[in-house]
Amino acid sequence: MKRALAISFVLAACASHAPGGGKVAPVPTKTPPPVVKPAPIVVALVVDQLAAWMAAERFAELPKTGGFARLLREGTYARDMRYAHAVTETSPGHAALFTGAAPYRSGIYANESIDQRSGHRQSALRDASARTISSDGTEHATGITLNGLATDTVADVLREHEPHANIVALSLKDRGSVFAGGKHPDAAIWYEVRRDAFVTSTAFSPKFPAWARFMDDAAIAGLRKEPWTLLDAAFVSSHAKQPDAQPGESEIFGFGSTFPHAFSSCRFPPIAFRASPRGDDALFALASAAIEARDTTQPMMLGLSLSSYDYIGHFYGPDSWEAWDELLRLDRSLADFFALLDRKVSADGWSVVLSGDHGGPQLPEAPDAARPWCGKGEDSDFWQRPCRHAGRIFPDALRDSLEQAADKALGHGDWILGVASPYVFYTHFAAELPPDRRKKLDEAVTKTLLGHPEIDRVYGPPTAPCPPETDESIDALACRSLWPANKDALFMVEKKGSFVDTDYDLGRGMSHGGPYLFDRSVPLVVRAPGRVGAGVVITEPISFAAYTRALSALVGVQPPRSCSEAREIVSR
Ligand SMILES: [Zn+2]
Repeated sequence: MKRALAISFVLAACASHAPGGGKVAPVPTKTPPPVVKPAPIVVALVVDQLAAWMAAERFAELPKTGGFARLLREGTYARDMRYAHAVTETSPGHAALFTGAAPYRSGIYANESIDQRSGHRQSALRDASARTISSDGTEHATGITLNGLATDTVADVLREHEPHANIVALSLKDRGSVFAGGKHPDAAIWYEVRRDAFVTSTAFSPKFPAWARFMDDAAIAGLRKEPWTLLDAAFVSSHAKQPDAQPGESEIFGFGSTFPHAFSSCRFPPIAFRASPRGDDALFALASAAIEARDTTQPMMLGLSLSSYDYIGHFYGPDSWEAWDELLRLDRSLADFFALLDRKVSADGWSVVLSGDHGGPQLPEAPDAARPWCGKGEDSDFWQRPCRHAGRIFPDALRDSLEQAADKALGHGDWILGVASPYVFYTHFAAELPPDRRKKLDEAVTKTLLGHPEIDRVYGPPTAPCPPETDESIDALACRSLWPANKDALFMVEKKGSFVDTDYDLGRGMSHGGPYLFDRSVPLVVRAPGRVGAGVVITEPISFAAYTRALSALVGVQPPRSCSEAREIVSR
């Protein structure tokens, strides 16, 4: 090799001299343009409802060629990342991941509020100052804002630091998208089930981004053309711990509780779209388009909240065939997505931080085979999954019984606005009561709630500062769930495994929202070549703010000012 090199250098030296020693001008050669490396991409992944217990039991079962296996090989996996709040719902969870602050400091304490006029539950992020924009450019009445958020997100700090950074956030729900995108994203897009379309809000951008317009009505209809079938029937049937037709599963308005699930037989296809792998397929297509459309000279933070796993869990339960098929498909889609990133920025040019916004319990009807730790004198497993019979709390029936109790205590009136997991909201009439009458109302409502077989504790607004975040008692977790300014609501903690029914399909499916580890602990996986250990597993519990800190380090900024203390996974 050395000899060949020496010869070629000699030949090159001779070439510039004409025979006889006369000098000639060198032949002009075209210098290739300098290769400009595209700026890095940081992907903030949230697999909605991916509990620590699900990851601990299922990651190792997935194929070695899948996305999760790659992340574990190339990254660091913390098995037990814990939220510091009891209100383990989507909005508080996403807000906590992207601000590093629990609800008592972020201001994001619930998914839903209740409209004072109609009494209907609605997204707590709805704000009359903004309008919804869809791909056809139509502006609709009410949009979503982050006006309720009391602190900065990682994206906000990044925007301040790098004004031209590409910041894009995607989800099947508003609350999964907006916290990742922050107040000034290039695009924050989500699927709006009532419109059956992807939308954004005037709070985030004056128009729907051109690169996302391909995901229009026809594209969404195309994704619903073929039925949802099993990707690998043998894999799913051998891993799911319940039969395909399991009591307690929803049939989602005709979509069915067994495979195959035909969209054409569903009376409300948008609901089925979200609760099938096709919802995530749309998100991956949008993510690819966002990457294609980015300014390659600027870094990118892409927030991707994969929400189908959550909806499927809600309708069919986490032990169902549907949940296993979704996980397998998600794993394959992640592998494809990481391969795309390899091609776009090379394997060294992208990093990922992945977690869940909350976990979830099993179906109350789950068979004994799905609870192998029971029957050995235990009342729950490490993740506090119970052996007791769990049950559902029906929000409208509960509101009716609370109204009766309030009328009995105060005389006939309009006192209870409604129940939205896990809160009871008062009307403005109740909010204006003098202190002695209000005390009577609180006592009557609390007594009725504690008389419900599935409710364990009830809390009013905290009267003293919350304990330090190392305190994981239910009192402390409840305290950190409550926003001090929200004085006209009571917070309920369900018994282990019980939950407020989602009201999607009354009496079927499951939900989350409590302080126990099956709801509150999630996995954290960070892949960042050269900056985190490869194949490292952390088994001890860590704070949720480890996600925020890792993401901040990867995008090259300090964590938001309200970010809690946590273990640093990424070297700065
Ligand atoms: Zn959920």
